[in-house]
Amino acid sequence: MVRPKTEEEIELLRINGELVSKTLAEVGKLVAPGVTTAELDRVAETFIRDHGAVPSFKGFEGFPSALCISVNDVVVHGFPSDYILKEGDIVSVDCGTFYKGYNGDSAYTFPVGEVDAETAKLLAVTKESLYKGIDAAVAGARVGDIGYAVQSYAESFGFSVVRELEGHGLGTKMHEEPGVPNYGRPGRGTRLPEGLVICIEPMICAGARGVYLARNGWAVHTSDHRNAAHYELTVVVRKGRAEQLSTFEYIEKKSIQ
Ligand code: MG
Ligand code: MG
Repeated sequence: MVRPKTEEEIELLRINGELVSKTLAEVGKLVAPGVTTAELDRVAETFIRDHGAVPSFKGFEGFPSALCISVNDVVVHGFPSDYILKEGDIVSVDCGTFYKGYNGDSAYTFPVGEVDAETAKLLAVTKESLYKGIDAAVAGARVGDIGYAVQSYAESFGFSVVRELEGHGLGTKMHEEPGVPNYGRPGRGTRLPEGLVICIEPMICAGARGVYLARNGWAVHTSDHRNAAHYELTVVVRKGRAEQLSTFEYIEKKSIQ
């Protein structure tokens, strides 16, 4: 069932959105060649707990860590590990928080040092496809309008859209109705009511869109082992223009310094 949130609920979701945004910025400050992904996870977990919240991914269906950290051909759900980031890698960091009964959920793909031009383009296009999806998430539109906006933009650059995973509603639970696929047809699917809170999260591949699940049952890899990027923001559906509850502003301000 699709249930719009009250303004009181949205306020709690906004607090969580701020916290995931700031946590991702803390992680982003550390991303560099020579750093292990486990170190990024430790910093995030400490930051989240210092703010009185809980890292919602940890323990979720047995997930071992605060962050999902997915390097290069891992699309999503990678485990933080002793892997040492190296120049030219990309690292997708997905962060979830739980505070006062509500969830936060956002993700960002960071370049490690200098990446090649094709990879830089993959990151830029994936992030922009998320904003195209947000533009489409207005009250009265349908879920298919979001998917179409993401897909048509990403595919116009020759990239492909992962079909097996999708965005979702957000509230007291980490995943609520509706599912928000990153592909679709305009005018199709669930109608978006004002006050609905959703996570839009394009997962875009440099090569073919096929994926497979690693033997650990979590990490999702591209079948052709080319890179994939993942960006996610939480928004409230509003009339005329969705309102962001999370932001990349903290990350991108820091990267300019
Ligand atoms: Mg997420
Ligand atoms: Mg999500």
